[in-house]
Amino acid sequence: MMNEKYDFLIVGTGLFGAVSAYLLKKKGYSILMIDKRDHIGGNVYTENVRGINVHKYGAHIFHTDNKEVWQFVNSFVEFNRYTNSPVACYKGHLYNLPFNMNTFYQMWGVKTPEEARKKIEGQKNEYHVNSPQNLEEQAISLVGKDIYEILIKGYTQKQWGRKCSELPAFIIKRLPVRFTFDNNYFNDKYQGVPNGGYTLLIEKMIEGCNVHLSIDYFDHKEELDACANRVIYTGEIDKYFGYKYGHLQYRSVSFETELLENVENYQGNAVVNYTDVETPYTRIIEHKHFEYGTQPDTVISREYSKEWLPGDEPYYPVNDDKNMELYAKYKALADAQEKVFFGGRLAEYKYYDMHKVIERAMEMVAHF
Ligand code: FAD
Ligand code: UDP
Repeated sequence: MMNEKYDFLIVGTGLFGAVSAYLLKKKGYSILMIDKRDHIGGNVYTENVRGINVHKYGAHIFHTDNKEVWQFVNSFVEFNRYTNSPVACYKGHLYNLPFNMNTFYQMWGVKTPEEARKKIEGQKNEYHVNSPQNLEEQAISLVGKDIYEILIKGYTQKQWGRKCSELPAFIIKRLPVRFTFDNNYFNDKYQGVPNGGYTLLIEKMIEGCNVHLSIDYFDHKEELDACANRVIYTGEIDKYFGYKYGHLQYRSVSFETELLENVENYQGNAVVNYTDVETPYTRIIEHKHFEYGTQPDTVISREYSKEWLPGDEPYYPVNDDKNMELYAKYKALADAQEKVFFGGRLAEYKYYDMHKVIERAMEMVAHF
């Protein structure tokens, strides 16, 4: 593969790499893609187990307000009508998410939006939070102390390995707070999961590209760079620069996946979050429910969050002030590269959802 010359080398077959590949190919460019994993798709990869598409790297629900992005993904595969409505389990009690009238009723027995608002206002005033500076203050000011203690504090501490008072406020603002009886986890206009799984989506995007798996860019960097005019890099930005200024921090996740034979329905929902701090996992995913599966068996994954250590897969960038300062230094180096373009969750060190990754790839390719 390295004897030929390509217009682009794309490092990573995740969503950013795949969207870039599709759009560049359409413009007539030749493309070589590599991935260090033995499969395509990055973290959206799904694997078929007994007819169930297992989300190998965690639950992935596509949602966007951007019609162009929605039409774009649906042009490859049809998306179903899946609407994410996780249930939270705290010490044996179940609550609906995101925070809405169902949650407020389950928490306090309040039946009207006015009663719920009063309850939250009362709890918020006790804490005197005016302009929230961190996740704890933001959470209390949005939903009050009870919901913070029961549904947020333990879960967040497990997921991020840090206290809520040490985390940026924006993380909790990802979740809607609603005074209607509506358990839809997202506010976006469009939402769903691809029929047939995300791997199929990625396969369709990269059709016709020259793809090589199980190749780490850094093991063959010189030869690979020499065979392409330009490089799109979607791996960790700090690694690209040899950790010159030190390591950026990431959260890693490990998944304990189990096939339960002759269990048709294990938990009745695709996602159940365990929000107490004692349960070691953050959530259990039952994959068949993403596609309304009726198979006789089921597959579940327990998700454990941990600090990233060299050798682990990096999943979530830790966007606190310290890491963002370090990232800014790497970004300056990246911006100075003429031939290499950095994109995606790891290369831009951003907590991007899938639709944002697609928008970014579209923006980047428009410049070529
Ligand atoms: P990645 O998918 O990480 O792809 C990068 C690729 O580059 C990987 O395949 C990697 O192997 C490869 N690579 C890296 N370094 C090298 C190297 N040196 N040599 C060769 N190859 C290399 N988004 C949503 O919209 N909805 C959700 O419900 C959702 N749930 C999520 C749940 C979890 C647990 C996680 C972690 C993320 C979730 N996301 C969700 C976000 C979504 O996964 C990302 O937005 C998207 O996958 C990012 O795509 P990417 O191409 O930037 O990165
Ligand atoms: N969160 C929480 N309790 C929950 C679910 C989410 O406190 O039951 C908080 C937690 O801090 C998390 C953030 O909300 O990091 C965003 O949640 P989301 O589900 O968007 O996280 P992701 O899907 O990216 O893991």
